[in-house]
Amino acid sequence: MAGDLLNSFTAGPDESGRFGDFGGRFVSETLMPLILELEKEYENAKIDSNFWKEMDDLWANYVGRPSPLYFCERLTNHFAGAKIYMKRDELNHTGAHKINNVLGQILLARRMNKKRIIAETGAGQHGVATATVCAKFGLKCVVYMGAHDVERQAPNVFRMKLLGAEVIPVTSGRGTLKDAMNDALRDWVTNVEDTFYCIGTVAGPHPYPEMVRDFQSIIGKETKTQMLEQEGRAPDTLVAAIGGGSNAMGLFYPFLDDLKVSIIGVEAGGKGVNSKMEHCASLTGGRPGVLHGNRTYLLQDDDGQILEGFSISAGLDYPGIGPEHAWLHESGRVNYVSITDKEALTAFQLCCELEGIIPALEPSHALAHVGKIAPKLPSDHIICMNMCGRGDKDIFTVAKALNFDMEFS
Ligand SMILES: *Cc1c(COP(=O)(O)O)cnc(C)c1O
Repeated sequence: MAGDLLNSFTAGPDESGRFGDFGGRFVSETLMPLILELEKEYENAKIDSNFWKEMDDLWANYVGRPSPLYFCERLTNHFAGAKIYMKRDELNHTGAHKINNVLGQILLARRMNKKRIIAETGAGQHGVATATVCAKFGLKCVVYMGAHDVERQAPNVFRMKLLGAEVIPVTSGRGTLKDAMNDALRDWVTNVEDTFYCIGTVAGPHPYPEMVRDFQSIIGKETKTQMLEQEGRAPDTLVAAIGGGSNAMGLFYPFLDDLKVSIIGVEAGGKGVNSKMEHCASLTGGRPGVLHGNRTYLLQDDDGQILEGFSISAGLDYPGIGPEHAWLHESGRVNYVSITDKEALTAFQLCCELEGIIPALEPSHALAHVGKIAPKLPSDHIICMNMCGRGDKDIFTVAKALNFDMEFS
């Protein structure tokens, strides 16, 4: 693959699922046949026009795609620099980009005749998207969620239950997303025959990182077309928030080989990347290791123990990052930065007040970085950020952080 990489940033992964030194398939022997079966089915689906016809129909009529590309006039005036656009993926059914990928994987599960879907979820957004699509297709849905997250994200737990899913609180480890993903993988091995594991980000063993990226790339493809219609050219800079990295890969991927486009991924800096691991900036503050079936950058201590991430945004506190991002980081094609909780909160408020859009805390990180660079750029410079989720789920967290009294206001 090294040869290909010199010509293209979109050629990966190679046959063994590697992006340079990252990715791959670090799984037990019992899991390997399942992964190979999935890979084969995906390879077939990828070139089957009927598969994509069904996806396009669902994207249009169930999800509400294409999502708009919106010029943020007041934010642009406020920062008095570059022109700021948002890709409005928060307007999708279920309020985030997650459903783009879930639809793809569930259609694949149907092709494979799998009747039971399992998923892991942290903040609950991927769990809700999965429960939603399972309800639509009459499939059994089991969602693994860290016990700690079950407590923190009660509304999403109730949503999943309303949609007919079974939510299993995971108490192993520290009871967070990492542990939920481990339990989901364990479930998959013991229920080989009828179960499909629907992963929510560009992580896991090959072919998941590639497959999830391909499904999310609808974001970047639409952006390319819409920007051409509105501005007659490609954007100069792309910005997206990174948890595992799926909304970012989706926006970035179709632009990777257009080297005039500068690309920035924004990690969650929590209380600051110099704070004692109270952040989840895997690239900025971690180093390579193996987790959840792939090699990538991870938050770990000196003994290689995986550390828990910390962020005001539950959707960003995954201790790893998709392997393709690790590779794009090392190759220098994408620039990775971090934004603190405090900076994200300020951007959250600004977005509400100036654009009438209540953003999720995750894309508030992206907007905070936009606010750092926009003032220094000329007025003909075009920035496009991914508004990957709406903020309804986060209002209680924000109220608490701002000391806002929810009962008497
Ligand atoms: C889940 C989620 C994220 C983090 O996941 P990625 O795979 O990094 O995109 C970011 N934003 C929102 C709104 C989410 O729901």
